[in-house]
Amino acid sequence: MEIIKCDKCKKIKKSEQGKSSFRSKWTSGNVRGGNPWEMISFDLCEKCSQGIVKFIKTYLRK
Ligand SMILES: [Zn+2]
Repeated sequence: MEIIKCDKCKKIKKSEQGKSSFRSKWTSGNVRGGNPWEMISFDLCEKCSQGIVKFIKTYLRK
C-alpha cells in the first residue's frame, strides 16, 4: 500500500480499508516548476492545505 506523507509536516495519510467514512481533506496535485519540464507533486494534510498557496510559493522560490 502506498504511504502518503504530508510534504509540509510529514504527517502520514492513513488510507485503511473499510474506513471510507474517514475521508480526510487532503490536497494533492501538481504545480509547474520554474522550468516547463519540471513538475512538482505535493500532498498536503487538511491542516497544511489551508496554507497551500504559501507553500507553493515557497517551493517555487529558488
Ligand atoms: Zn501537514
